[in-house]
Amino acid sequence: LETRRYEVLAHVAGGASSDSGIPSEAEYAQIRPFLLEVMPRERLYRRRMLMANDALDRRFQVMPPAVQARLGETLVGKALLLQHDHERLPVGLWYDAKVRPAQAGELGSTVLEASFYMARGSRSDGLIADLDAGVLRYGSLGFAYDKRICSVCQLDYYRCPHSPGEMTEDGEQVQLVWGGDLSRYESHEGSLVSLGCVRGAEMIRQGYREGDRMEGIEKIIARIDALEARHKPAAGDKDSLAADGQAYREHCLAELSRIGKLIGQESEAAALAQAFEGASVARILPVLQGYEKKLNEKFPVSPIGEQLTADEAERVVNYRRPVSL
Ligand SMILES: [Zn+2]
Repeated sequence: LETRRYEVLAHVAGGASSDSGIPSEAEYAQIRPFLLEVMPRERLYRRRMLMANDALDRRFQVMPPAVQARLGETLVGKALLLQHDHERLPVGLWYDAKVRPAQAGELGSTVLEASFYMARGSRSDGLIADLDAGVLRYGSLGFAYDKRICSVCQLDYYRCPHSPGEMTEDGEQVQLVWGGDLSRYESHEGSLVSLGCVRGAEMIRQGYREGDRMEGIEKIIARIDALEARHKPAAGDKDSLAADGQAYREHCLAELSRIGKLIGQESEAAALAQAFEGASVARILPVLQGYEKKLNEKFPVSPIGEQLTADEAERVVNYRRPVSL
């Protein structure tokens, strides 16, 4: 009954959540192996988060789906921390993580979706309130890895002469692709942070159902189209939303050309860019995501590059500490 009341309240409040974080029967079955005491579902709190994707992150890194999957399978049973602080006790536990195709509105072509739970009580009350209010919302994985491969010279980051994000003379952006030996990858924890390195790594609204989601996205697209029509970007008006939208669209078209070149479909990309002249971002993005997927297939996870000398290897070992995204 209590659950039902929350559901009704949440619905009236705008449908941000329909279950106040109480695990469903199926979710409880996934959590059950971790419990030392049998307790009712209502005493637990669980949420879903997007923790990784294969879009370019804030440090110009790209995580292929195979690495996402490996980090997902090693995350289950690990701690939910605050700000990667190992000195403090965990606030929750990750009980499920899986890679799935990105949905409309999400970056990249695949995402790692992970679920944590915590026990309700005085220690978690404040956290739960902040999570429900959307104040605590960003996520970040702490993990051990093997290497990051430069997209331009294919060498390990610590051996390559480039800086992530810089543009080469050929107009190619230097990006780092997580790669090497998958077995060296292991999630150590997943944290709630003020802002993570992965764009889009944040809480997933629990109340979403597929239908609601699609309807919501269609409304958002219609709203963007209406805004675009109303605010034609005035020349020099860099501050307006419309100008931002214009800049983002140009960015998408530039990305299309850049990735087209990387995957050897330069002329097709050029034709598409021309066809997309004046099209909305919503129409360009699915094609761009398809291109990003092909790019990932072209740079799969496998040892690439030369073997390190003993001297270099020793230097690299020092860098092979867990990182936080
Ligand atoms: Zn390089």
